[in-house]
Amino acid sequence: MGDKQNIGIGLDLGGTSLKYALCTIDGDIITQGKRPSYAQDNPEKILKNMVEAIIEMKVYAERSGLTPRVVGLGSPGSIDIDRGFLHGSTPNFRFWKNVAIAEELKQRIKLPVFVDNDANMMAFGEFRFGAGRKYRNIICLTIGTGIGGGIFINGQLYRGAACAGSELGHSTVVIDGIACNCGGNGCLEQYASATAIVRQYEAYARDSQIKLNDRHKDVQFLFELYREKDTHARRAIDEAIYYLGRGVASFINIFNPEIIIIGGGVAESGSFYIDKVRQIASKFAMESSLKDVKLVAASLGNTAGYLGAVAYAFERLINTGLNTK
Ligand SMILES: [Zn+2]
Repeated sequence: MGDKQNIGIGLDLGGTSLKYALCTIDGDIITQGKRPSYAQDNPEKILKNMVEAIIEMKVYAERSGLTPRVVGLGSPGSIDIDRGFLHGSTPNFRFWKNVAIAEELKQRIKLPVFVDNDANMMAFGEFRFGAGRKYRNIICLTIGTGIGGGIFINGQLYRGAACAGSELGHSTVVIDGIACNCGGNGCLEQYASATAIVRQYEAYARDSQIKLNDRHKDVQFLFELYREKDTHARRAIDEAIYYLGRGVASFINIFNPEIIIIGGGVAESGSFYIDKVRQIASKFAMESSLKDVKLVAASLGNTAGYLGAVAYAFERLINTGLNTK
């Protein structure tokens, strides 16, 4: 294990689960845990659950003779990072809005707490410790229930004027297309997310009188069907890949990144997925930006969020002038 002085607790609040870990500033995981995120419950329930997770990590640390110095959290939604305040609203978390997250947690656990958007924290993790660590101009896409985006420009996380930017999943790919949770329509998320793949598969299967069951709601199962050359799975997934490739081509043209990192459950379904996205993007992006860009799968899996959150929290702690030693 690396730096025993600089230990933090990282949390990654997702639509299904809360993932968390005790780790070092250098990205070494000491122990980790996972529990339901209670996404559809009230904020108090979600906060209480996070406090319990933090205490679990604190107790583990104390038993190992370690002292966590900071807590970092990636949460869905747009976050005022100065105050760690969540503005509304996030479609997968119905009541999770207008919450003073950092303040609430700080009062209960007596540690400095820093909060940022979950997709930003995943991007931060990949930037520091994963596929992006040798690069300064990076686009991260997380393909799951929705599509999250993270943007690094010259080694700095880009957030926009009100910390509400980098919503790459809400780029329009179909004019007046499917209505989106964001209030717009035709967004990339509606055509290339896991949710979109399941919805399209179900539509095609229904047309062919195929009886659907719960397994068909699991995108990993649909990828299995894809590999078995199931017609409907092929059609749904190839379409999603096509839209993602078109979106990626736009991001290449706009940002001229060195690398595009694609993470989330869907990206872990096999190298063919990334290869196909690359093929489509290559066909549509402009030559000058396309020339040297790399398109790769994320390398940290579902640890990127909490590793990024701890690294980010330490950065903020140092920048606010507190001695970390
Ligand atoms: Zn949208």
